[in-house]
Amino acid sequence: MWRVGMVVALHDETPTARTIALEVPDWPGHVAGQHVDVRLTAPDEYSAVRSYSIASAPNSEGRVELTVERLANGEVSPYLTQEVAIGDRLELRGPIGGWFVWRPQQTEPVQLVAGGSGLVPLMAMIRSHAATGSTAPLRLLNSVREPGAVWYRDELQAISDGDSSVTITYAYTRAAPKDWPRPPGRIDAALIAHSTLPSNLSPTCYVCGPTSFVESAAGLLTAFGNNPDKIRTERFGPTRLLRGSVRIAAQQSVLPKRICKCKVPASWHGAPLVSTCSFVL
Ligand SMILES: Cc1cc2nc3c(=O)[nH]c(=O)nc-3n(C[C@H](O)[C@H](O)[C@H](O)COP(=O)(O)OP(=O)(O)OC[C@H]3O[C@@H](n4cnc5c(N)ncnc54)[C@H](O)[C@@H]3O)c2cc1C
Repeated sequence: MWRVGMVVALHDETPTARTIALEVPDWPGHVAGQHVDVRLTAPDEYSAVRSYSIASAPNSEGRVELTVERLANGEVSPYLTQEVAIGDRLELRGPIGGWFVWRPQQTEPVQLVAGGSGLVPLMAMIRSHAATGSTAPLRLLNSVREPGAVWYRDELQAISDGDSSVTITYAYTRAAPKDWPRPPGRIDAALIAHSTLPSNLSPTCYVCGPTSFVESAAGLLTAFGNNPDKIRTERFGPTRLLRGSVRIAAQQSVLPKRICKCKVPASWHGAPLVSTCSFVL
């Protein structure tokens, strides 16, 4: 079932990542870790669908926040990070997913490992943990390219400052802050041993990011003694191969570059809907 959400706020996390807050009047609620599918449709019926994790904590206000990283040669993410404006309507389907989720009823320790935009569903878990006053020990190992690429920096700092059960460690892959104790590099065995919860505490681990990152981090967690059954993963891999038919449709577009209006239902809560979504094909 496709719903229509209205963009009510935009916030740039970094020069290439934007948080989009949507109000979805008939939103059924979600669990931290779930995602939505976002659909953009052109008048000629060509459409593109991409998955985006929900960054916001579960709430009863029908507010859903997504954070999108712009890929320079991407089809959808440049539109979502540069073109979408407050008041635009976006079609979305969800919430989706029942395995890669954290519920406040979970009392066991939680180990989160994020690579790049893989932080988004983990941020929803951290926000949910904070909003519900959970005392479950929670650690985040956040792998980012460089200091300027850190998302939600102030909020993460405030949460960890105010809650002794939350610990956050950054790992920089390309450039680290001055005097940072670890040289830039990928997550490795030493970092896992030093900064994640001991495996004898049987934490539930959530690992999210690009496919290669997830496989590497999950392998290291297993090597460190974590039970593979307690390691939940979500991969943000390329979508083109999965959606080959959509890609073919794009290649068949007659006009190589044109602005289309986003096709959305004709009415929203009984009111005529004027979509201002422009989608560059
Ligand atoms: C469950 C799920 C949740 C997701 N949540 C988020 C999220 O919260 N925030 C977010 O920014 N993205 C998220 N993604 C990725 C998102 O769905 C898109 O793949 C991404 O925005 C790229 O779409 P695009 O149309 O701009 O690029 P495309 O036109 O699909 O691809 C452009 C180029 O980038 C490559 N590519 C595509 N996707 C990725 C990727 N994720 N990483 C590296 N290279 C890629 C392609 O192979 C191609 O070469 C999620 C994916 C999944 C499966």
